[in-house]
Amino acid sequence: MNMDAASVLQEVAQQVTTCMRCNLHFSRKNAVPGEGPLNASILFIGEGPGFHENEQGRPFVGQAGKLLEDLLAKIGLKRDEVFITNVVKCRPPGNRDPMPEELAACAEYLNRQIEALNPTLIVTLGRFSMAKFLPLARISDAHGRPVRVNGRLIVPMYHPAAALHQPSLKPTLEKDFLQLPDLMRLGGRAQEESKIVEPEKNESNLPFEKPADSGAEQLSLF
Ligand code: URA
Ligand code: SF4
Repeated sequence: MNMDAASVLQEVAQQVTTCMRCNLHFSRKNAVPGEGPLNASILFIGEGPGFHENEQGRPFVGQAGKLLEDLLAKIGLKRDEVFITNVVKCRPPGNRDPMPEELAACAEYLNRQIEALNPTLIVTLGRFSMAKFLPLARISDAHGRPVRVNGRLIVPMYHPAAALHQPSLKPTLEKDFLQLPDLMRLGGRAQEESKIVEPEKNESNLPFEKPADSGAEQLSLF
């Protein structure tokens, strides 16, 4: 059955609330499917729910969420204009790192959300969401650099919680955020061109540079 995007998002949210695909369901209070408008151009992907998210069933409602909102405000966006979700939808106990089998069990939900939203830009927050697209990248190298992975424009960034923990990362995170308006234009143009340009001609029309040895294509803005 071919479902429209709104129905897919609704179905994912519904399934997540009763999901038992991994052990995280034992300790969750509320699953956190993610939220945002159907027409969001930017999808932010964090790590997983923390204490407050688990209480409320909503993503990024604690301190890290406050910083995310402040960063969005710097580029003229409100949180309800972007889509926000995580690589795991249930809280890892004590905020431990999500385990490989949990990430694997939960991946299909995020994949369906990405398909349904078809965002212009995906911003990964932290190592675990970066690793979904760039398993070999180091965040200290990769942050703030747009990369095209499987036709999608990805921009890895530090996690806001990391910047709260380690204040020296905050200016870096801010600088990366300030690039987003330009990156949106780049991503928007790429989406437009991919509609009208032959697939084989498409690449040469885009400001992409291929790095020597990775599946991902590094993009440059200028
Ligand atoms: N940190 C995350 O990675 N996700 C949230 O939803 C909240 C904090
Ligand atoms: Fe299901 Fe994901 Fe929650 Fe695991 S983390 S129980 S896979 S929704």
